[in-house]
Amino acid sequence: MTNAASKSGGTSGRSGFDLADLRTASATDVGRVRSVNQDAYGEFEDAEQHRQLLFVADGMGGHRGGEVASRLAVEAVGETFGEREDPPERLLDAAFQAANARIFATSMDDMELAGMGTTGVGILLTGEAQGWVAHVGDSRAYRMRGGVLEQLTGDHSVVGELMQRGQLTAEEARVHPQANEILRALGTQDGVEVEIKHVDVAPGDRFMLCSDGLSGMLPEARIAEVLGTADPEAAVLQLVDRANEAGGTDNITVQIALVPDAPFAGATDSATHTTSPTTENVPGEKAAAEGSMIRWAVTLMLLAAVLWLLISGGGDG
Ligand code: CA
Repeated sequence: MTNAASKSGGTSGRSGFDLADLRTASATDVGRVRSVNQDAYGEFEDAEQHRQLLFVADGMGGHRGGEVASRLAVEAVGETFGEREDPPERLLDAAFQAANARIFATSMDDMELAGMGTTGVGILLTGEAQGWVAHVGDSRAYRMRGGVLEQLTGDHSVVGELMQRGQLTAEEARVHPQANEILRALGTQDGVEVEIKHVDVAPGDRFMLCSDGLSGMLPEARIAEVLGTADPEAAVLQLVDRANEAGGTDNITVQIALVPDAPFAGATDSATHTTSPTTENVPGEKAAAEGSMIRWAVTLMLLAAVLWLLISGGGDG
């Protein structure tokens, strides 16, 4: 899959990076209290369109509802991403609407699944170094840059809205009794309003998606410690461990994408590669010409040396 991305030519002519160099990792864990993991995630790559999508869903609902809802969301989002060539914002909206429709239709068909729903958060990254974050509910996206962790999404929840109005700090919101009450979900009604925004992507950026089983268990400073230092593969596991050590009261899901440091300007690289061969177009003839020039120069120097020896030798005698 990653080979296909690099073969397709990547980013020539524009600044960006080869998607094959984007390092991603995901982990999910049931936690220490619940018996079922209602979280789900997906990693999807579209080599043709030079874009990659990470997606986390945190399902809710009785019986098997939560599990089914998050799994249906991942399926619908992945299928839509693979099928459509829309610009990123329209694609993300279509993917989330497809997830909403599939969950809602399934919940109408099966009494046991009535009322099920899920959160959804996705990040779409392109080889042109552009990013878009889409979300519904309280699963989150973060970006870590220069040692600073920034939350890119505002929770669609009671405490999330209080926080966005400046009435609660992040830490107060995290431990608030209503911390789990969300105001928007995928699949609970016909149609959903998806919040989508463009995000800036720079070399070395680390993007993280997570369910509230991570962000609710750990203060941001503890997330930042791990995210800023460990490799993505190690970081996802360490974050799950830390959330479990802090109690693990909910299912824990985390995904990380590490943007390569360098080279970031694909344009410069490809220009060098395409122009350099023209100077070596006829290497055979050029080498031959250079060779004969050198032979002439050596011959002339030898002649001069012989003449100098003859003249100086003649002077002595
Ligand atoms: Ca949860």
